[in-house]
Amino acid sequence: NEKIDIIKKHIKVYPDFPKRGVLFRDIFSVLLEPEIFQILKDVIVEIAKDIKRKNDYNCVVGLDARGFILGPLLALELNLPFVPIRKVGKLPGDTYQIKYQLEYGEAICEIQKDSIKPGSKVLIVDDLLATGGTLEAARQLVLLSGSSVVACFIIMELADLAGRNKVQAPVESILQF
Ligand code: IMP
Repeated sequence: NEKIDIIKKHIKVYPDFPKRGVLFRDIFSVLLEPEIFQILKDVIVEIAKDIKRKNDYNCVVGLDARGFILGPLLALELNLPFVPIRKVGKLPGDTYQIKYQLEYGEAICEIQKDSIKPGSKVLIVDDLLATGGTLEAARQLVLLSGSSVVACFIIMELADLAGRNKVQAPVESILQF
C-alpha cells in the first residue's frame, strides 16, 4: 500500500536511544509535515473502522505518550470517548495502578477510576509494540475498570520480540520491523 510506504519513509530512526543497542523509531517525525500527518490519520481511521466491524468497541484508550496523538484522532472520528493511561503520578483523582516490565526497566501505569464506563468494549491504541509489556499492563488496567479489551491497534510492531504473544487480546499493526 502506497500510503503505508509514505508513512514508513517518514518515521525517523535513532540508533542508541534511549540506550546503546536500541533502535528508536519516532512517530513524531511524521507530524512535522501536515500532508504526511493527514495520510497517517486517513490510514489509521480506515483501519480502526475495519477493526470495529470485526470487533465492535465503544471506547478508545490511548497510552502515554504517543497514544495520545493517535487515540483522540480515532475517538473523535468514530464519535467515541477517549481515555488516557498514563505513567504513574500524572493523573488526578482515584486511580488503578499496574506495575510491569519494560523493554528498558520497570514501570507503573495508571488509569482514572471514573474514566471508563464499566462494561465498555475497548480499543487500545499506541505507536509501537516491543515486548508487549506495556500493552498487556494497559489491558489489565481496563479489566480492573470493569471493562474488556476487544482489540489493540499499533502503528509499528517489532515482530522479532513476539510482543503480541504476551497480549491477551487481538493485535493489529500497520508496519512490522
Ligand atoms: P513494550 O512494553 O516493550 O512493548 O514497549 C512498548 C512501549 O515502549 C510503547 O509505549 C512505546 O511507545 C515504547 N517504545 C519502545 N521502543 C520504542 C521505539 O523504538 N520507539 C518509540 N517508542 C518505543
